[in-house]
Amino acid sequence: MMGIALALSGLAVTAGSGAGAGGPEPRRFEAVETHMGSPFRIILYTHDEAAASRGLRAAFARVAALDRALSDYDPESELMRLCDAAGGPPVKASGDLFEVLARSRAMADRSGGAFDPTVAPAVRLWRRARRERKLPDPDAIRKALDRVGASKMTLDPAARTVRLEPGVKLDLGGIAKGYASQEALGTLRAMGLPVALVAGAGDIAAGDPPPGRAGWSVDVAPLDGPGAGRPERTLRLRNLAVSTSGDAERFVEIGGVRYSHIVDPTTGLGLTTRMSVTVVARDGATADALDTAACVLGPERGLALVASTPGAEALFVRRSPAGDERFETPGFRSLVEPAPAP
Ligand code: ADP
Ligand code: MG
Repeated sequence: MMGIALALSGLAVTAGSGAGAGGPEPRRFEAVETHMGSPFRIILYTHDEAAASRGLRAAFARVAALDRALSDYDPESELMRLCDAAGGPPVKASGDLFEVLARSRAMADRSGGAFDPTVAPAVRLWRRARRERKLPDPDAIRKALDRVGASKMTLDPAARTVRLEPGVKLDLGGIAKGYASQEALGTLRAMGLPVALVAGAGDIAAGDPPPGRAGWSVDVAPLDGPGAGRPERTLRLRNLAVSTSGDAERFVEIGGVRYSHIVDPTTGLGLTTRMSVTVVARDGATADALDTAACVLGPERGLALVASTPGAEALFVRRSPAGDERFETPGFRSLVEPAPAP
């Protein structure tokens, strides 16, 4: 049960640099907990150890609360109870669930359905395929697709209610971690700890930069194997979010074909192009949802979607037998950390 089985590494004071002309420098605090099935790492700087410890507890508690609302693994989550009510009257949603559903719906509309929170029935077939190492039955895929489509979810912002057509299931796996990282960062800022970074696995929200730095250095490793170690790998970010999606970690290989855990809602098939997308955006939910959408759309259409999002930039890496092809928005370079002077 996500969010309850916590692997708490505790508080580690990893650096405590002392004297400086203007008094002692803020110290660096770092902690990791597992939420949403992923390690969430928080790094922050402050002079005040007690404030750091309170902040870390509150930020992790915020992520845990979001997991209870948004999880599609926990049958008791608010999201799953909403799905149980599909076909019935509208259901009142918490502020967080409604917000994430509204953003999901907006991204579904903007991406022409490439990102779709109702893709759950098809995602489930692929999760089973991964367990059983056997392709889903084409008939099962067709039946699943009958239940997919963002218009099958009706949101009423005034009443804050959600109505799902019969059989509709929701999956927020493509947006929840980015939202949670951003919310945890907001919790820290509200507690007077703006110099912080929250990384829910590959979904990272960066706040004010560490002392004396222009930004947080964030390594992005688009694809495993050759191509790693290029200078593009390190971004310098302040008050921005970054998310990387792709097939590097979760996929199933059947009959020599590699199927991603990201599903194309128009075909119901796991993506088979070896590709990774790194998206930088003004907030974590936008970066996370955009990179999932961009993976489905591919570089040609995906770049246009990113370019039409204020403040967003992206790097696509597509692997083919001829080698890795890279595509990026014009502003992506400006986020790359300059190479150190030789
Ligand atoms: P991660 O960072 O965990 O790899 P991604 O942001 O890449 O997550 O999103 C992948 C997850 O999103 C899948 O595990 C699934 O839960 C969900 N998903 C898969 N396909 C889609 C889609 N087309 N639209 C929205 N969500 C999707
Ligand atoms: Mg995503």
